[in-house]
Amino acid sequence: MQAKVVIVGSINMDLVTRAPRLPRAGETLAGYSFVTVPGGKGANQAVAAARLGASVAMIGCVGDDDYGDRLRAALLVEGIDCDAIISVAGESTGVALIVVDDNSQNAIVIVAGGNGHVSSAVVDSFDALLSQAKVIICQLEVPMATVGHVLKRGRELGKIVILNPAPVSAPLPADWYALIDYLIPNESEATLLTGLPVDSVTTAEVAMGALLASGASKIIVTLGAQGVLFATRTHVQHFPAPQVRAVDTTAAGDTFVGGFAAALAQGKSESEAIQFGQFAAALSVTRAGAQPSIPTLGDVQEFQS
Ligand code: ADP
Repeated sequence: MQAKVVIVGSINMDLVTRAPRLPRAGETLAGYSFVTVPGGKGANQAVAAARLGASVAMIGCVGDDDYGDRLRAALLVEGIDCDAIISVAGESTGVALIVVDDNSQNAIVIVAGGNGHVSSAVVDSFDALLSQAKVIICQLEVPMATVGHVLKRGRELGKIVILNPAPVSAPLPADWYALIDYLIPNESEATLLTGLPVDSVTTAEVAMGALLASGASKIIVTLGAQGVLFATRTHVQHFPAPQVRAVDTTAAGDTFVGGFAAALAQGKSESEAIQFGQFAAALSVTRAGAQPSIPTLGDVQEFQS
């Protein structure tokens, strides 16, 4: 199988505890429940693209532990090509330790583990995979230097290059903008990238102006229930979100990115791909959880008709 969508990104196990409140320093607190949930933005987007109709390969690293084995198995079940997922000896798999309290506030510690080993050299060893891709997606949960390397290689190979700048804490390196076809931040990421407040279509348009001035060519800002705003140097368009009853918005952004990429890989136009991504993301918010909430192509076709 030739992978049309290749994702270079993170693979995590989310360790989710529910407790009445967040513990204070030095405190031991009795919680209500504990679950392990496959996560990581890279893996979530890979699952989304695969369920939504693309042939997908993932380049990433896990530790040589039980979580790594379980996460690889979970991706294989989705039909994702995992030959480029390396198990790093003596390293732990990436984890997110999450405590959620009665007010739905959370506290999260992320340990990169294997994700920190996704180096430019690892990516180069799977260059054949990048060469076969139609669409390449990166996020920011692997080392920045690697992301820059992938963007550059993607551009050299003439691929459709998508960056979901998540999580982000500072403006991107200036030379990245010319390497990215679609920059897809959410509201808070657009704010962090530009220093401008983004919480509406109007404010998003101002921030997108700043990103275009920095050299970005096509930007899609996701605005939760307000849909997405798409901008190029010559064109701005708002795509409202389908109205649904939201239950849990976890992984909505990852579902949008994966669905958008899957549709582009199948030769859809960008506006068709945006609409498809939005239908998929809207369905995902009607269901609980991250990867379990991501719909299939059949679900979206039924919802769209
Ligand atoms: P993130 O998960 O990164 O914070 P958003 O909250 O912006 O991203 O959501 C991504 C996309 O998911 C939105 O652009 C929209 O298409 C869809 N979405 C999110 N929340 C809702 C909602 N309440 N109703 C319908 N669609 C939604």
